[in-house]
Amino acid sequence: MTSQKLNSFLEQNLQDLKDNGLYNEIDILDGPNGAEISIQGKKVINMSSNNYLGFSNDERLKVKANEATDIYGVGAGAVRTINGTQAIHEELETKLAQFKQTEAAVAFQSGFNSNMGAIPAVMTKNDAILSDELNHASIIDGCRLSGAKVIRVKHQDMDDLRAKAKEAVKSGQYEKVMYITDGVFSMDGDVAKLPEIVEIAEEFDLITYVDDAHGSGVMGKGAGTVKHFGLQDKVDLQMGTLSKAVGVVGGYVAGTQNLIDWLKVRARPFLFSTSLTPGASAAIIEAIDIMSNSTDEHDRLWDNGRYLKEGLKKLGFDIGASETPITPCIIGDEKLTQTFSKRLTEEGVYAKSIVFPTVPRGTGRVRNMPTAAHTKEQLDTVLAVYEKVGKELNVIQ
Ligand SMILES: *Cc1c(COP(=O)(O)O)cnc(C)c1O
Repeated sequence: MTSQKLNSFLEQNLQDLKDNGLYNEIDILDGPNGAEISIQGKKVINMSSNNYLGFSNDERLKVKANEATDIYGVGAGAVRTINGTQAIHEELETKLAQFKQTEAAVAFQSGFNSNMGAIPAVMTKNDAILSDELNHASIIDGCRLSGAKVIRVKHQDMDDLRAKAKEAVKSGQYEKVMYITDGVFSMDGDVAKLPEIVEIAEEFDLITYVDDAHGSGVMGKGAGTVKHFGLQDKVDLQMGTLSKAVGVVGGYVAGTQNLIDWLKVRARPFLFSTSLTPGASAAIIEAIDIMSNSTDEHDRLWDNGRYLKEGLKKLGFDIGASETPITPCIIGDEKLTQTFSKRLTEEGVYAKSIVFPTVPRGTGRVRNMPTAAHTKEQLDTVLAVYEKVGKELNVIQ
């Protein structure tokens, strides 16, 4: 017999979601998550992945993953601190530190895990964390887990940051105060104002933490948003994912040797969850090598981003104020946004709708993620479909 309480809890809540149109049906891909995908036999142009550089299905990375699997096995066999640290993990961390131009780096099993590990390792209940209100869910959870007082800062509002930093520091209530922000915000494609943030941090002795999940591989010729601004020596923790532009899986934190030594003894996912697979580690190393030696993919990504933005703008769509290849197409009304996205898919373009509560009410959008792997012909098809659906639904004239 199973719990009656659990069963009724699940049934009721699932039904509520379904009644309110909030239950998410998951689409299943038949193959790789490339520029074109197949969903249960239907081929569509894919504008929804985070596979910015096309690395998730790159031959060079696949070869390295297979080689490492032959040498080290399919699994690491233990957590990092018991005996699950293989030479390939060390090599990966050395490579990450070089790429980020920091003294050291530590790899985690995911970006989510990196935030769950690193934030509570350095912040405690005696501290305060100033956090941009649009920060990623894993930052929010990591902050909560730390027990620190969390103070929400208005999105990208430097006056609000300065005022709240001043108040927190002057109160004398906290041992340490941190400011934590996404490097690139994935809903609008705007970039953290790091030069101003660093200035404010210096004024109030704030710890700075940048989650560059959407900036790595995209900003700073690949090395990220902190590198883009040349602030490698001014940001305390550079965190990111190895699953988006890098195309594989995993996360990292880069910083001083002391910081990394501390995370390796205190970050709980490092201590209590098995290491990255050897194959993933080797594929990531290859991705970093490729990014270090050439900006071909990076340049194609930005070129495709510009092309798509110009095309949508010319058609009369509102594409917001993105500073990166992320291209939101703002429709407004939630229902209309969902219909728009559904019609795009029927016409062969897969672009997900993003609505309240992920973004503010009335700013529903279809978000486009162009990648290095898209061809101009594919983008032209996307634009033609946007024109057709936009006119049909009276979003454009
Ligand atoms: C995607 C994302 C993460 C999580 O990274 P995973 O490697 O997918 O776990 C963390 N922070 C931000 C800002 C992200 O966009």
